[in-house]
Amino acid sequence: MSEKILGKEFDKLIESLSKLPSIGEKTASRLALYLMKNPPDLTLQIAKSMVEARKKVKICHICNNFIFNKSCICSDKSRNKKLLCIVENVFDLISIEQGGHYNGQYHVLQGLLSASKGVSPKDLNIEKLISKIKKTNYDEIIFATDPTSDGEFTAQFIFGEIKNYCKSISRIAIGMPIGSEVDYIDKNTLAKSFIDRKRM
Ligand SMILES: [Zn+2]
Repeated sequence: MSEKILGKEFDKLIESLSKLPSIGEKTASRLALYLMKNPPDLTLQIAKSMVEARKKVKICHICNNFIFNKSCICSDKSRNKKLLCIVENVFDLISIEQGGHYNGQYHVLQGLLSASKGVSPKDLNIEKLISKIKKTNYDEIIFATDPTSDGEFTAQFIFGEIKNYCKSISRIAIGMPIGSEVDYIDKNTLAKSFIDRKRM
């Protein structure tokens, strides 16, 4: 890269930023340049909040959600323990919560199964989710993974494993624009997808 011209520190920064998802070398270089030309306070503030958040985050052993210092949403006694909504990530959980049409439990997969990206059931600890479903007598299980090929594949795979353990299993994707992502669609569309959910 630019080591001979600019020095190894700059190269190292670009290399580190490139490790983040959706950031190629070009974007990493642009971000590095931006940080270098702005006052050091900005870099320090970003680095500090990254380290602090990463240090404090814990994963809930029941629902796989992120927790920071306070108790997890799954320990809220006012929520329906017999409803389970399966989501890809924490942003999807937040979107559904903001929609205000759901008051049950969640399971955060922290990813989607994907043959093309090599993500297997083991990588997402699907076994843990399946055994939780087998042990809990849920009234309804709702799949809220994106209507993309990985989102569909993930929902169908888990459905195949749990279909005999819950009488009502549904999918919210119908009504959502094909190819859209749960955390990007507006609240009204998401709310409608919940109301219009179809049995699997
Ligand atoms: Zn939890």
